[in-house]
Amino acid sequence: MDYLQGLNPEQRAAVEQTDGPVMIIAGAGSGKTRVITYRVAHLIRKGVDSFNILVLTFTNKAAREMRERITHVVGTEAKNIWMGTFHSVFAKILRVEAEKIGYPSNFTIYDTDDSKSVLRAIIKEMNLDDKLYNVNFVLNRISASKNNLISFQEYNKNEQIQADDMSSGRGQLGKIYQQYATRCYRAGAMDFDDLLYKTNELLKLHPDVLNKYQHKFKYLMVDEYQDTNFSQYLIVKKLAAVNENLCVVGDDAQSIYAFRGANIQNILNFEKDYPDLKVFKLEQNYRSTQNIVNVANSIISNNKEQLKKNVFSEKEAGDKIKIMRAFSDNEEGKMVAEAIMEDRSRMGKKWAQFAILYRTNAQSRSMEEALRKLGIPYKIYGGLSFYQRKEIKDLIAYFRLTFNPNDEEALKRVINYPKRGIGDTSVDKIIVSADAHQVTPWEVITDPAKYFDGKAPATLVAFATMIQSFQVLAKSKSAYESALYIAQHSGLLKDLYEDKSVEGLNRYENIQELLNGIKEFSEREDIEEKGLDIFMQDIALLTNDDKDKNKDADTVSLMTIHSSKGLEFSQVHVVGLEENLFPSQMSLNSRSDLEEERRLFYVAVTRAESKLVISYATSRFKFGTLISCEPSRFLDEIDARYLELDYSAKPTSGSNNPFFDDERKAWTGGGKQADAFSKPKPATSAPVKTTSILAKAHVPSAGFKPSDTSNLQVGMEVEHERFGFGKVLSLEGAKPDVKATIFFKEIGQKQLLLKFAKLSII
Ligand code: ATP
Ligand code: MG
Repeated sequence: MDYLQGLNPEQRAAVEQTDGPVMIIAGAGSGKTRVITYRVAHLIRKGVDSFNILVLTFTNKAAREMRERITHVVGTEAKNIWMGTFHSVFAKILRVEAEKIGYPSNFTIYDTDDSKSVLRAIIKEMNLDDKLYNVNFVLNRISASKNNLISFQEYNKNEQIQADDMSSGRGQLGKIYQQYATRCYRAGAMDFDDLLYKTNELLKLHPDVLNKYQHKFKYLMVDEYQDTNFSQYLIVKKLAAVNENLCVVGDDAQSIYAFRGANIQNILNFEKDYPDLKVFKLEQNYRSTQNIVNVANSIISNNKEQLKKNVFSEKEAGDKIKIMRAFSDNEEGKMVAEAIMEDRSRMGKKWAQFAILYRTNAQSRSMEEALRKLGIPYKIYGGLSFYQRKEIKDLIAYFRLTFNPNDEEALKRVINYPKRGIGDTSVDKIIVSADAHQVTPWEVITDPAKYFDGKAPATLVAFATMIQSFQVLAKSKSAYESALYIAQHSGLLKDLYEDKSVEGLNRYENIQELLNGIKEFSEREDIEEKGLDIFMQDIALLTNDDKDKNKDADTVSLMTIHSSKGLEFSQVHVVGLEENLFPSQMSLNSRSDLEEERRLFYVAVTRAESKLVISYATSRFKFGTLISCEPSRFLDEIDARYLELDYSAKPTSGSNNPFFDDERKAWTGGGKQADAFSKPKPATSAPVKTTSILAKAHVPSAGFKPSDTSNLQVGMEVEHERFGFGKVLSLEGAKPDVKATIFFKEIGQKQLLLKFAKLSII
């Protein structure tokens, strides 16, 4: 069994424990995903039919990579494994079973834009204040309800929910939810949350269907289990109920989707649900150097809520973690780009070994600009998807209508695009008439005599006839022939062709790219059904990363920390470590939100294999104005023994922005001192012991205010915002980068960088 050789004894034990419930809750980089991959290969080698295995991953990309690796061990059998995200796997099952719960099998999947558009229309029709009923807020409420399996009927019956909504002045939420659900149903559409909600409904209402899939999926595995919500938890539980061959892996310290309803409770429930559960511990991190693992441990130890783990690395100690300070966001971009440029040539690395991770999408701009200036190739992951672009959505809306003419959002999108004389008033009239008669807008359009007084406008009849001709055609032609025909005969291709602006050309090229993709699909030999309807099935679930033709191109990766989960890169830059950005402003109201931000920081640093660089800017443009920024509290929490400050940045010369004046003064006075820090003097005391895990957070004294600590001396007593009272044991390094070793009464010894530390001398 040499294919199991790449596992340590614990990992191997987890792989070989194929039957019965298994849980692995272990730290980052300890091989959880690797265990799942090997486990699947092992099952197939042992003779389990590959059709009977279901693996649920966090992204489609993760599933693809896993399948590739399994193929190396078991060959083409790997093709038959059911593997993908919850959404894509259950969308596939719903297509087969949809009619049982009253949906057409070619139901549309509404993406977030579609959902918001439906909600906007409802809020408008109900004459509600769209600030109070902010569309994002409303969608989140509905999404949270669905993920907790609360139907609109239950929502409206539940006294507690009703009372909460009334007291926040949003008593109409239940009604909006009802309207929204009714409209999606009428349009033959499911939103993202419905894919899980309706799966639950299907499995609950149809025991025969449940039974079928329980016997089909004899072995189930779930990666990133800490980020599953209640709806997902229940699906897994139900499907596994007969065989109980269920293996879940995750890390509570990496749970970063609480805002979407993911719940650590799922991990705790697991022990309750399966008393004869086998638990495996993996403690060795194979990804990162010791310094990186130590930094990660010191970050997460600040969280109160966590399952204790002892993660260690046996790799080399590696470089210390570098902290870079920039004077502005643009400067930060420049420093990061230059560091990447230099390290690549110095260490002979590829671009693809570097990643830049940020808290919010908006931060990519300054990074992109800097990379472009130096000619560094890069790729943004998880940004605006190709399929979200307007022209692509327009053409796809025609496809959607072709297969599901009741799809109201698609209809509204293209009924008058390209312009064909069906104005807003006519569209409103159609929708009002449809509502009044309890039919779909499509029914109104195709039988206008029944719903309109007088003669239906010829334009409307022509539009209906055109869509019907697409329907006829799509039944007999290949995906590509149908798509090309629709693009031409809808007038869309011509409209884009005639727009000779740069954007217009770009849009035209994008349509060509989509058509090329469909052509490739039509020519595939490994699938039998190649109609446009098949191509369309999961298109709403695809992201940029799935479509990418240059998957293997050598580029630096840029992404939010949320989308970096599970990935690893040789060198990682985590940027924007500033108060109100990371931790985000929105997280500052509650401990649990702040702890989620800290977990996010933990995810970010644990992506790095050999080098980790963290940076922050002292000023940044936000909503068009320059604001000054404070370094993040998270920097203060890292044990300074693992850090190295690199303040070599010079303020951009020629800057005439008066805002930098103070910084510049401080800078010219501090050049030498900064140098002194990067070559620290020998420690004045013996190496400090690692700080113990915080038992509980300190509540600062009334009126606590960090004070100027430039005169801090050994022996002084201090209060720290969170660590409480302590005494200074030693000071090391030169101003302004002095490190203090302080003994805190509650948590023991800790080394802090004074410039970040929220300290007051008492
Ligand atoms: P995360 O929590 O970030 O998802 P993980 O626990 O899933 O991490 P993996 O991605 O499976 O960890 O493994 C981390 C890295 O360590 C991978 O490159 C993997 O190939 C490697 N690795 C894991 N176990 C071993 C081992 N026994 N021998 C050699 N390399 C290993
Ligand atoms: Mg993993």
